[in-house]
Amino acid sequence: MARLIISADGPEKFDVWKNAFAQVAPDLTVCSWYAPETKSEPADYVLVWTPEKDHYPALSGVKAIICTGAGVDHLLRAPEFPHHVPLVRMGGTQTAQLMADYVTWAAISLLRQARTWAIQQADGTWANNCIARTTAETRIAIMGLGHLGSSVATHLARVGFQVSGWKRSASVLPGVQVYAGQDALPDFLKTADILVNLLPSTPQTCGLVTYDFLTNLPKGAGFINVGRGDHVMQPDLIKALDDGVLSGAVLDVVTPEPLPVTSALWAHPKITVTPHVASEASPVMQADYVAQVIKSMERGETPALLCDPQKGY
Ligand code: NDP
Repeated sequence: MARLIISADGPEKFDVWKNAFAQVAPDLTVCSWYAPETKSEPADYVLVWTPEKDHYPALSGVKAIICTGAGVDHLLRAPEFPHHVPLVRMGGTQTAQLMADYVTWAAISLLRQARTWAIQQADGTWANNCIARTTAETRIAIMGLGHLGSSVATHLARVGFQVSGWKRSASVLPGVQVYAGQDALPDFLKTADILVNLLPSTPQTCGLVTYDFLTNLPKGAGFINVGRGDHVMQPDLIKALDDGVLSGAVLDVVTPEPLPVTSALWAHPKITVTPHVASEASPVMQADYVAQVIKSMERGETPALLCDPQKGY
């Protein structure tokens, strides 16, 4: 019987996880990292988000480390992280559907400039700002066409947007124009009335979104960041919005998180901030995914969302 130790979300969340696993995988032995008796027996698998330093030595002997996030940049950057242990990212259908729903909401918010309605409502102003532009007339471009990006792209195409995507390796995705590699980036950016960032944070992608980068977009484009805050040079983003290079931005991820109350992003009239909530599946759905990963590894299979330490995602 496989034994899973959970440290994700601290001791206070353990009962929620335990109940979730009891529903979807009653055969799995589930223990809290924080229970004193847990440390006397080794784990087969661990479920983590941001382990504390003293947690890392116990991770080096397990069959896999499973992360409650799809982004694992914070783990790979930790000096103590045991890179020889398989690291599996969060997945599952609800995670992908939530991301597709969020990006659809954000894209339509930008298309209709919904931020101006929120500002008008806050001070009781009734001003007509009808925008006569449909999804079918809008090109949306997704940076990062991996597990989440592909699902988002397919969903947006179904909604009616004209969709393109950018990734490292060439591939085919029905209904989506795919651009691959660094050389294709300028042509890809030209297709973006709305640009979505769904890249992982790696040394190659960190700081990618600068003022100059944004000037490659059609003037007045919208920007959605659901990747990581460190992809974006924040002062450059604000300048691009103030100069009209961009018409609006929806930011689910920022640096730092939580965003300090003093940040200029909060009150900017062209920015909508959400607190890193785009895609967090329910504990039961996450537990179901984790249980499937463990079952497949116990059968000797390789999980689909295994992180490649060489690539950094
Ligand atoms: P994947 O690893 O499945 O996909 C990453 C994609 O990015 C791949 O298509 C990859 O290309 C592409 N890519 C990576 N590096 C480059 C590069 N240098 N140039 C061009 N393309 C590149 O990740 P997921 O889709 O599962 O997740 C993506 C990110 O979304 C996570 O890393 C995380 O940061 C963020 N996220 C945010 C959440 C939120 O709530 N805001 C929730 C979940 C995730 P290729 O396919 O060729 O390898």
